[in-house]
Amino acid sequence: MVNIDEQEATHLANHLGKTRDAFDTEYISKGESGRMVINAIPCHFLVGNSCSVYEHRFAGCKEFPAFDIPQLKKRLFTTYMHYDRCPIIFNVMEHLKLTLQFKKSTI
Ligand code: SF4
Repeated sequence: MVNIDEQEATHLANHLGKTRDAFDTEYISKGESGRMVINAIPCHFLVGNSCSVYEHRFAGCKEFPAFDIPQLKKRLFTTYMHYDRCPIIFNVMEHLKLTLQFKKSTI
């Protein structure tokens, strides 16, 4: 799920030649708090294995998977959700398992 803000939505709407209303209707879900997210998984803008709006992608996309940002523990669930589809997350987790000598539970 990709969080976006008003400025990012307007920027991408302009790039796509859409009004904000049309952009919001087609691509955005809004929560009661005003939080906006892309309304599809996978994202509408993923074409094959590439981002079709790469130069205009959102801040959350640019920082993903955000291993360098504090409070990773609070984002572990959403990070692990991408374990099987994001090579960065997969490789970091597999490396951590080796480094920390992870052993499969026998319970
Ligand atoms: S990088 Fe592009 S395709 Fe991926 S979530 Fe962001 S906008 Fe969508």
